Parts: sequence; structure tokens; C-alpha cells
Amino acid sequence: NKSWFLKEYPKGLPQESLFELRESQLSTKLDEGSDDVLVKVLYLSLDPYMRGRMKAGGSGYAQGFSLAKPLVGGAVGVVVSSANSKFKEGDFVLGSLGWELFTLVPKGQGLRPIDPKGLPLSYFLGVLGMTGLTAYCGLFDIGDPKEGETVYVSAASGAVGQIVGQLAKIKGAHVVGSAGSAEKVELLKNTFKYDEAFNYKDEPDLSAALKKYCPKGIDVYFENVGGSMLEAVLQNANTHARIPVCGMISQYNLEEGEGIHGLIQLIAKRIKMQGFLVGDYMTSPLAKSFPDDVSKWLKEGKIKYVEDVSEGLESAPQAFIGLLQGHNVGKLVVHVADD
Ligand code: NDP
Repeated sequence: NKSWFLKEYPKGLPQESLFELRESQLSTKLDEGSDDVLVKVLYLSLDPYMRGRMKAGGSGYAQGFSLAKPLVGGAVGVVVSSANSKFKEGDFVLGSLGWELFTLVPKGQGLRPIDPKGLPLSYFLGVLGMTGLTAYCGLFDIGDPKEGETVYVSAASGAVGQIVGQLAKIKGAHVVGSAGSAEKVELLKNTFKYDEAFNYKDEPDLSAALKKYCPKGIDVYFENVGGSMLEAVLQNANTHARIPVCGMISQYNLEEGEGIHGLIQLIAKRIKMQGFLVGDYMTSPLAKSFPDDVSKWLKEGKIKYVEDVSEGLESAPQAFIGLLQGHNVGKLVVHVADD
């Protein structure tokens, strides 16, 4: 087997030298009665929350990675050997697997069978998986956009952001997005059909940019980045605006988060600002309606989905570091192997 380990917890932006690919012997024979399942990893999801796990104590909501075990993450795989009656060889599964070629899953714990129904397997890590569900629940439960309202999304071309914008369009909102390159802005306008989009790196004054691109003010801000972007939004939010706080990626490499000015606007404008974790929604009615709604919208072409596929297990650390610098265009996955 080949598995990626973290040698030390990073300070600031992780360096590739902190990751090590180790080889080990792997037996495909499983003990009868163990209920264990051996899975070949096909696609590995790389996500910003993993930076929080690269700290000894974790991020406050996700446990720290062990330095003694392979790195883990959401992944799709195929069962190659099973001592578990719920899984047989050849089954496609979704679960928490290692950054490695094969993962032995004790008692098959946390594995879920998936039926791809002709869709790419990697979609179950993104639009039809964790990041799609994040967009769907955060926007519909907390953002609750109404027809004609202005919805603003940061990191708008990313895994979560691209789905948020298109869901908001389906609800009839006026949708504005920001992203960090001209290529991403083009994608927002031409592929995801955002009404307005801009490169925040070209804007010396974010508040002035929001005034320009959201002339009627912001009714829903889907927060992915935090920091100065949040401050600019508070200045441009309308009365009774809603802010689903999904993530604050601009803070993840900082040892101490930045303070936010302008929170007093929450009172003046009666803004609802609420953090959420996608894990809390797993058994909610929204999680039940999500797969059918989103597969339907994909089929009808109302949702377009863009992935950034990094080739080969070897590429995982570099791709992950790139994610924290905005190098990914769309949902980042690593293609580890074919089934
Ligand atoms: P993305 O696919 O959006 O990739 C991350 C993007 O963030 C980068 O491409 C870059 O885009 C942007 N970015 C990186 N660094 C910075 C920075 N310093 N300042 C501003 N933007 C930056 O990732 P996801 O869609 O997977 O995640 C988006 C957010 O959602 C993250 O904050 C993540 O933690 C959060 N999340 C929360 C979940 C929850 O349950 N609450 C679940 C899943 C995700 P650009 O070039 O546009 O700057």
C-alpha cells in the first residue's frame, strides 16, 4: 500500500515537506467474522476543513489528524475484499478513507453504498455529496432567499459556492459572486450564470465593490471566507439580511484569527448570522430532499458542475496546499485509481 502521513503540524500555509508518502505491506485476506472491508480508493475529496485538522487539538469542530496514521478524508472507493455481509466485492462505497491506495475499514464502519446511476463517482464527493449538501442546507435553511432578493456568495466558484449561486438562481434571486481570478469570474458569469461577478483581488475597496455590484444591498450573504470580506458585507447588508456562516477560509492559516469590525450592524440592521455544520443536517428533511432535487436540476441543466481533478495519489499534498491558495477551479478531488 502507499499512504500519505503528516510528519508535523504546519504553521501558516502547509509546506509539501511536511507530508510523507510511506509504503507498507497489505494483505487482501480478511479474517472471517471480522466484518472488515478492504476498499480501493478511487477519488479522494480535498476540503478546506482539513487545514483545521492539521493542528494537534483540531479546529474546534473537527478532530486533529493523528501523526501516527494516514491522513483521512471523504472518499469514494470500490470494495476489493469483504468479510462483511453488507458489502461485496465490486460495490461502490462512500466513506472516510485514507489518503492512500487501499483502506481497511474495520467492521465497514461509516461506509455507505452508492449507486452511481450513470453519474461520475466523484460527484458523490461534491455536487451530490458533502459540499452540495452544505450549499443546499446552508442556503435554504438559514439564507432562505426570496424571489428578487440579492444573494451574494464569496469563494463563489468553489465546491460549495458554485452550487449556492445556482440554487439561489433557481429560487429567483439576483445572484452576485466573487472569486480570486479572471478565469473564475468568467466561469461564474458564463457557466454558473451569476447575474454579476467580480475578482475581489482587483478591488482595493471591498465595500465600494459590493456597493457597485449589489446596488440594492445584500439580503443573503453566504459566508465562505470571513475577514475583510465579512466586514464589507456588514456595511452593505440590508435590514433583516441573513448570513449563513459556512466557512472562513481566509482565517485557516492564521495562528490567531482577525477581529471583525462592524458587528454592531447586526443590531442596527437586525441581521441573522448563523454558523452551521453540514453534519448536523444528515437526518434532516433537507438531507432527504437534497439528492432528488439536485439530481433533477443537474439533469435539467439548471445546475452545472465544475470539478478540478488532480491526477494521482502522489499529487494530494500539492493539490491541498493549492486549495488554500485558490489554485483550484471548482470542486477539488484527487483521482487515485480507476475501478
Ligand atoms: P473551495 O472549492 O471554494 O476552495 C477554496 C477556495 O477558497 C479557493 O479556491 C479560493 O477561491 C478561496 N480562498 C482560499 N484562500 C482564501 C483567502 N485567504 N481569502 C479568500 N478566499 C480564499 O472550497 P469549498 O467550497 O470546499 O469550501 C468553501 C468554504 O466552505 C470553506 O470556508 C469551507 O471551510 C466551508 N465548508 C463548510 C462546511 C460546513 O459544514 N460548515 C462544509 C464544507 C465547506 P478564490 O480564488 O475565489 O479566492
